[in-house]
Amino acid sequence: MPDIIRMLPESVSNQIAAGEVVQRPASVAKELLENTIDAGATEIKLIIKDAGRTLIQVIDNGCGMSERDARMCFERHATSKLQTANDLLSIRTLGFRGEALASIASVAQVDLRTKKTDDEIGTQLIIEGTEVKSHNPVSTSTGTSVQVKNLFYNVPARRNFLKSNTSELKYILDEFFRIALVHPDIAFTVYNQDKVMFQLPSANLRQRIVAIFGTNYNQKLIPVQQQTGMVNISGFIGKPEFARKKRGEQYFFANGRFIRNPYLHHAVEAGFMELIPKDSYPTYFLYLELDPSNIDVNIHPTKTEINFTDSKSIYAILQAAVRQALGKYNLTTVLDFEQEQSMDIPPLKPGQTIRQPQITVNPDFNPFEKKQEFQPSLRFENQDKNSRLASWSGGSQALPGQAGTIPSLPLAELIEKLGDEKNLSLNLESESPPLPLFQIANSYIVAETSKSLMFIDQQSAHERILYEEMLEYSKEEHTVSSGILPVSLWFSADDALLMNDLLSDFLALGFDISEFGNNDFVLQSIPADLGHTDFHGAVEKVLEAIKNDHPGKSVAKQQIIAKSMARSAAVKRGKPLKKEEMESIYQKLFACKMPEISPNGKPTLFVLSFDELLKKFKP
Ligand code: ADP
Ligand code: MG
Repeated sequence: MPDIIRMLPESVSNQIAAGEVVQRPASVAKELLENTIDAGATEIKLIIKDAGRTLIQVIDNGCGMSERDARMCFERHATSKLQTANDLLSIRTLGFRGEALASIASVAQVDLRTKKTDDEIGTQLIIEGTEVKSHNPVSTSTGTSVQVKNLFYNVPARRNFLKSNTSELKYILDEFFRIALVHPDIAFTVYNQDKVMFQLPSANLRQRIVAIFGTNYNQKLIPVQQQTGMVNISGFIGKPEFARKKRGEQYFFANGRFIRNPYLHHAVEAGFMELIPKDSYPTYFLYLELDPSNIDVNIHPTKTEINFTDSKSIYAILQAAVRQALGKYNLTTVLDFEQEQSMDIPPLKPGQTIRQPQITVNPDFNPFEKKQEFQPSLRFENQDKNSRLASWSGGSQALPGQAGTIPSLPLAELIEKLGDEKNLSLNLESESPPLPLFQIANSYIVAETSKSLMFIDQQSAHERILYEEMLEYSKEEHTVSSGILPVSLWFSADDALLMNDLLSDFLALGFDISEFGNNDFVLQSIPADLGHTDFHGAVEKVLEAIKNDHPGKSVAKQQIIAKSMARSAAVKRGKPLKKEEMESIYQKLFACKMPEISPNGKPTLFVLSFDELLKKFKP
């Protein structure tokens, strides 16, 4: 028997490798475009004919290649970007495997022209199916042009497998967008069938998104910005009101590379929870920057799937970033707080952090149950009586727009404007003149601000307050026991099983419930401010909600519990409120992250400006 094992000819092994890298014209466009970015280009042209079947050409003004490099770049595993295995951990370039050009050249006719800045003459290489047909000096401008003609001319099976021109062109454009969206500073031009299809000048990110997806995107975008030690997140999310039933534009990038990551997608959706209907999709363009050693991009040849070493924390940070961006947007746009033109507000210095307001809670204080002096207190940490605010608002004058009680600027904006002054004090305990609040229809709190009337739905607002307070407790583990406790709870056998499952989530929200045996439980403490309610009925409603929603994660379970509990315990419409109760709701509502919407998605308030009022009286 003769020996039968043989080495494959290079052309065949390259074709096999090409199967992984080059599936369709779009893969060629992607690889060529990535190389231009790695080459430091600032102007890039993409030329397409017949959806890439007959031609894909990419021209750049990047660093170019020497004559030797031009020859080398078509060798498999020839790369300038990686030398040792250790370099893999700190990779910053898009390519690093040195496979793309070799693979492309094995399944197409390639014409490469390239010149380095300092060279007088460039190099032209013509290759067909790995075979070098010609290799000549050429007069060409600095940078590189790669023409890929007749893709799969020597692999008919692959050619037949391609879809319609419309689909293939769409794939190419998808790849193009993923690169153009990461590099708004780079100018791109796309030609299709000799016509300009996209002309994208160097721009900022917002302008780039608008240039690609249309001018109507300008009004849809909310900026996201979150910096932490582990990851920096920036970019834009779409306003909730523009969420659509069909999947819109959803882009994640990690260290300048487009990625798919269903887990992070879920984090964004969780950030949007309550604000968009369940079957709608949010739009987002989110950019994560993190230490390359925290990413493993090597798990998939086309590199869109990546792993993070600590994806749980990234999930939490991302969700918080989205929520915060939404909260800020809602607060600054929904409320009609007017700002005086003459105000001299110190701008936020670079690197300056924004301090979150803290609500101090007196655990024994329950505005709805006890006759006690009401002491609204909204304060910043490190507070001091020396009031930065006083000078800001002009000495002894009240805050712009309203009496010296609640600042009539949106809270988030106010915090931002004031920055993290150590001495900043927003202490409202002293000298607070009464708020101009009153109740109508035993259901709505009306507040008068400088240029508008605000109507607050007491029930939805209180639901929002309780909901956020419970979720806050989950971090602080702060519970109280009150005179109404303990309360015994009893359930059917299967509800008791479910209940056992939820005890830790209840506890995280401030409800200390323990099992007593025989399907009996006892509720020993509750979060402050929850007040009297039918706890047995409330917990039963929670179980119903959990059964309907089947949440997998603890976070989701806690949100459902808090939502349901808030609904049960909130003050109802139709209940007359005392002045302190109205003040409490008003104060606490605006300390919430998302004051203008109830946890169940209902608006908590609306604003009628005096201008609108005036219009009503116009003949
Ligand atoms: P990789 O990008 O993984 O290194 P490629 O096969 O895509 O592998 O490219 C091989 C090498 O050719 C690159 O490492 C780079 O040095 C060079 N190269 C490719 N395209 C360009 C370009 N447009 N400009 C300058 N150099 C390039
Ligand atoms: Mg490459």
